Amino acid sequence: MVTSSAASPVRRPGAEMLVRPVGAAVDAVLGTRGCLFTFHRAAPPALWERLPNREFYLDLDFLDRLLGYLAATGWSVVTIAEALRRTARGEPGDRFVNFSVDDCYRDTYEAVIPLFRRHGVPVTLFVTTGIPDGTLPLVFAGLEDVLLNNDRVVVDGETIAVATPEARRAAYARIAAAWDADAPAQHYVTFCAENGVDATAMHWTHAMSWEMLEAVRDDPLVEIGGHTVSHARISRLPASQAFAEIAGCRDRLRERLGVACDHFAFPYGRSGDCGPRDFDLVKEAGFTSGATTRKGLVRRGQDAYRLPRVTLGGAQRHLALAELHLTGVSSLAARVLGRV
Ligand SMILES: [Zn+2]
Repeated sequence: MVTSSAASPVRRPGAEMLVRPVGAAVDAVLGTRGCLFTFHRAAPPALWERLPNREFYLDLDFLDRLLGYLAATGWSVVTIAEALRRTARGEPGDRFVNFSVDDCYRDTYEAVIPLFRRHGVPVTLFVTTGIPDGTLPLVFAGLEDVLLNNDRVVVDGETIAVATPEARRAAYARIAAAWDADAPAQHYVTFCAENGVDATAMHWTHAMSWEMLEAVRDDPLVEIGGHTVSHARISRLPASQAFAEIAGCRDRLRERLGVACDHFAFPYGRSGDCGPRDFDLVKEAGFTSGATTRKGLVRRGQDAYRLPRVTLGGAQRHLALAELHLTGVSSLAARVLGRV
């Protein structure tokens, strides 16, 4: 039996949703399909279990298994530059994945890049230049470190016990939310003083340095792009400041490393964090592409200045979930639920 949606138009929104995955499935078989994954930090499983802010990290064992799975199931892992070439070419059946690491913490250098090298596949680094320059305090990494390595900490004059992983996670969530609402860097200065923390030493415990970036800059498996100077939420800035953040990181990376720095990723990257004005600024700054964290797959005809990316977080430790991302089902679900 053949039914046609044209002959019997679907009116109910619930039923309409049933039709869309069919179109997506056909497209997936016939067309070019790319999935751009992004994450921030990675940790070995034993540490991952204990981390106060583990949602921010990928379990390295999971990442290892995911890379093995992609190779076994015919996905190419490519740079952003190659993803754009393939998107333009649009060869039927072409399937590719990119991994980008945002901000660039020390574990990117010590654990993530070595893992990608071992698999012989590329990884993209979107660098916030205030991190290697030491001008952007890593407030939340510092908070997490202190919670992880102490049984009690002082917060606003009050001593709190954080002797178990659960207590540390709860304390992190509570303190980070309070700081996030109002001048986090100021809170962090007070917190360091109260807990005897050397903020500079703490910074270099978690930051990727220029020396580390120099050590990987000529590696054909490492692609370096920009992620602003100070990790600003671009949509909130006047145009001149937004442009300074976008162009400034490109200038700094080119000057310091001598790399092309053709690709950009927006901090936060969701709908409210970057819009049409900002996509134009990225183009004006000379970048070839701009990436968001709006969910979705990359297909032929994709606008290079609003690339979708799928964020991988700590809770996502199952290959089945990764497969949902690769088919676009999770992106479809996110759009239906308005989480874009
Ligand atoms: Zn970021």
